[in-house]
Amino acid sequence: MAYDDTNIFARILRGEIPAKTVYEDEHALAFHDINPQAPQHILVIPKGPYQSMDDFTAHAPDALIAGFFKAVGHVARQMGATETGYRILANHGADAHQEVPHLHIHIFAGRPLGPMLT
Ligand code: ADP
Repeated sequence: MAYDDTNIFARILRGEIPAKTVYEDEHALAFHDINPQAPQHILVIPKGPYQSMDDFTAHAPDALIAGFFKAVGHVARQMGATETGYRILANHGADAHQEVPHLHIHIFAGRPLGPMLT
């Protein structure tokens, strides 16, 4: 399926709608989830037209892949959650209830998160 550049995260990347940005560099943008599921709930997205991790790692340049993962780690450190713990999650496709078809990594922190979701 082709990337749909009208999705809400593409619009955030183009500056068409606002986001509460916590980190940005040439490869990635990180911002607060609008409907937080934990005291800290940040989304990190790559700056490029990729729907999923499989799409991203197959088609993005290596520098962008590296830069995106570095940004995820940077944001986890910035959240101050490296001692207490945090969870990283990415939903892909219908079975995982992916709502926005632009690759995004959720980072949850700030409370005990319970057992892994299934
Ligand atoms: P799900 O909603 O099932 O978690 P996703 O993994 O695709 O599906 O997550 C999309 C996330 O994007 C949700 O957590 C939602 O709250 C968040 N979201 C939707 N619109 C915005 C927005 N404008 N700004 C920030 N976060 C948003």
